[in-house]
Amino acid sequence: MNEHQRAQKLITQQNVESLSTENQQWLKAHLAECESCAAEGQHLRESLSALRAMNLEMPPSLASRTQFRVRMRAEELRGKEPARKFVWAIAAISWALGVSTAPWVWHGVEWLGQATGAPKLLLQAGFALWWSVPPMIAAWAALSGKRAEQAEQAE
Ligand SMILES: [Zn+2]
Repeated sequence: MNEHQRAQKLITQQNVESLSTENQQWLKAHLAECESCAAEGQHLRESLSALRAMNLEMPPSLASRTQFRVRMRAEELRGKEPARKFVWAIAAISWALGVSTAPWVWHGVEWLGQATGAPKLLLQAGFALWWSVPPMIAAWAALSGKRAEQAEQAE
């Protein structure tokens, strides 16, 4: 792995989990002197914050690349920490699903607005609800997984 690949890996990692101090410092130093990695990090950050802001004018390639990386990272963690694999898999899938379905859902919402004349605010709330469902399912899965573990230990 060369230093650019290492930088890419760390950039992805810091969006999913926290980095060790050593890695953080190394990445900061690399980004300060490497324009292409800094630009790549910026892209990833932008695409993630665009998702959070529900800005749908995100290039699809960026979305799928980000999704892919998150999924890869989840796979990696799964290998290392079997106990967390379920939560990670659910989180990655729900997130990927949210990203990939958003444009269609938004078009549907728009169509609904035109067809029914419903207030825009109501439609936006409906859309936001759609987006919050997968993370809610993931959180529920994480919690019920934990509870099952505790129940097993209690027996
Ligand atoms: Zn670099």
